[in-house]
This record gives sequence, C-alpha cells and structure tokens, in this order.
Amino acid sequence: MVGKSAVSPNIPRSTVREALGPKVQFDRPLAPLTSYRTGGPAKYFIPAGTPEELTAAVTAANRLRIPFFIIGGGSNLLVSDRGYDGLIIRVEIRGMNLVDETVVTCGAGEDLMALVNFAAECSLTGLEFAAGIWGTVGGALYGNAGAYGGEMKDIVRRVTLVDSAGYGKTVDNEYCRFGYRDSCFKVTGDIIIEATFQLRKGDKVAIGSRVDEILALRARRHPGEGNSAGCFFKNIPDPDQEHGKLPAGRLLEEAGVKGLSVGGAAVYPDHANIIVNTGHATSKDIRDLADIMKEKVREKFAILLEEEVIQLGEF
Ligand SMILES: Cc1cc2nc3c(=O)[nH]c(=O)nc-3n(C[C@H](O)[C@H](O)[C@H](O)COP(=O)(O)OP(=O)(O)OC[C@H]3O[C@@H](n4cnc5c(N)ncnc54)[C@H](O)[C@@H]3O)c2cc1C
Repeated sequence: MVGKSAVSPNIPRSTVREALGPKVQFDRPLAPLTSYRTGGPAKYFIPAGTPEELTAAVTAANRLRIPFFIIGGGSNLLVSDRGYDGLIIRVEIRGMNLVDETVVTCGAGEDLMALVNFAAECSLTGLEFAAGIWGTVGGALYGNAGAYGGEMKDIVRRVTLVDSAGYGKTVDNEYCRFGYRDSCFKVTGDIIIEATFQLRKGDKVAIGSRVDEILALRARRHPGEGNSAGCFFKNIPDPDQEHGKLPAGRLLEEAGVKGLSVGGAAVYPDHANIIVNTGHATSKDIRDLADIMKEKVREKFAILLEEEVIQLGEF
C-alpha cells in the first residue's frame, strides 16, 4: 500500500503559530482521532470549522512549504506509530439544510450518520444505505463510501471544494469521477467543504425501518465499538459476481485468516476482512497482520488484494 508520508522543514514554532493562528497545536496525538485508536502524533494540527479557516490553513501550509493531510472522522485511516511529520487539518465544517423539497446541503465535517438521520426526518429516501458507515460526509465522498447496494455517487449533485493551492470552486457529479471506493479527489487533492445531495420523497416510516434494518445487519457483522476501520481490503471487480464484485472477505476466509493475530491486532471472528484493535495494538501490528493476510490470499488464489484503508506516515 502506498502510504502518504511527509517531511517538514525545520521552522520555529513561533513562525508556524503566526502563520496558522492560535488554534494550531504541536505534537498532537492522532490515535484518539482515529477509529483504530493507534498511531503517533502530528507535528502540527489544526481544526477547520469554517471554509475560511480551511482555506487559511491550506494557504499558510503552502507558504511555509509544510506538507498537509486532511482528516475527517479518522475511520478509514491507519496512522504510522511514528506519526505524521506535517500538518493535519481536521475538517469540522458542519450544518445541514433542506434547500428544496428533495435537495439537501451538508458540511463536509458533518457525521454521515447525522445526515442519514436528517434525511429520514425530512422523509427523504436515498441515503439509507449509508446507515452505520462511520466518519464524515467529506471522507465518504473522498472514498465514494457505499454499502447495501448504494454509494455516495448515486446521490451527489454538487460539491464545493478548495483545491490544494487554496482556491475554491463548485463542481458537479461528473467532475468527481466516482468509482468503486474511488473519486478524483484521490488524485487532485481537492478538499471537500460542502456537498449538495439529490434525494427523493419517501415514506418516513419505511425510511426509518430500512435504516434500523441496516443498523441491525451491521451490528451482527461489524465490531460495534469502533476499534476497526471497517473492511481492510477492497473487493475484486468481477462481472460474474453479485454487484460485480468478488468479496475480499470470502477469499480471506477461504485462505484461512480467521484466528490470526499479531500483537494486539486480530482478524475479527465474524468477518475475515476486518482487522480489530483488541486493546493494545500498534499500527505496525495492524500493518503486519494485513501483510500476512494479503500473502495468504496471494498464495492460494494468485490475487493481490488492494487496501481500502488509507495509510498515513512512514511504516
Ligand atoms: C465499523 C466501520 C464500518 C465501516 N463500514 C463501511 C462501509 O460499509 N462502507 C464504506 O465505504 N466504508 C466503511 N467504513 C470505512 C469508513 O467509515 C469510510 O471510509 C468513511 O467514509 C471515512 O470517512 P472519515 O471521515 O472517517 O474519513 P477519514 O478516515 O478521516 O479519511 C479518509 C480519507 O478521506 C480523506 N478526506 C476526509 N475528509 C475529507 C475532505 N473533507 N475532503 C477531502 N478529503 C477528505 C482523507 O484525506 C483520507 O484520505 C467503515 C468504518 C468502520 C469503522
């Protein structure tokens, strides 16, 4: 897996504070900001609660030549135990609005589950598939998060963003080039500020029941306590399979990974594609276990699994 690592120039803290403002933090532990609860600190950290704060942070980082990385809910991230030698910008831009009978806008830092609940409250259907997916709306758009037959790409109308140079623009669904757990943002480095979703009028009771049904299904298959990052590996495109994908979990199960562990990292007993932190895992334990799982699938099926979880920093 290609990790996003960084090396910052040596700059006096006073200069960094002057450029980034009083909200900047130094050597901020990242583990509490990830669902794995592992990993080291960020050399610099700043929360961005408004589009202006986000743009200012990006502009200052570029001016000081400090590499930066965006995080949302940290639920699809494996942060190196050595941390990140750059600036972490946490998108905390919130707020949801019903702007038309069936159109909703939402800040990128809003919890995806809050948006699911908001849509249900407004009797709007189309977002039920996302019930129980951890993280923020921005993170979900970045990876085109999906489950139970739905994906973010099905409902996105417009996205407002800031590019990596600090300029803002609003783009349509086509611009985003959504694919399976993929979007153009992985290449462009654009940062999502807000999104507009096109939903449909539905029956409030039926929407609520579908949300509850999906949450119940998840409770049976996923570790609820948030000590994982969901599925570690992507499914494999295969037109002969249901939904056009061969589940990585099935290959992993047949390759015999259940029961494996390294240090505090273990394969979740009910789902072979989930690695859990049993309480004292390091990110290296998780990475090493993932490598063993990957190798077992390669040996048995000659298939090289690709990580869905994003790795940050040096491993
Ligand atoms: C128990 C559990 C179950 C899960 N189930 C699913 C599932 O069913 N389907 C699924 O697809 N995923 C699932 N996931 C994975 C995860 O919830 C999603 O990938 C989620 O969308 C990540 O959002 P986040 O805000 O946590 O992103 P983060 O983990 O913070 O970041 C992930 C990536 O998104 C980028 N990013 C975040 N915010 C922005 C932004 N505003 N602009 C630009 N880039 C940004 C980051 O730079 C990073 O590269 C699950 C995770 C857990 C813990």
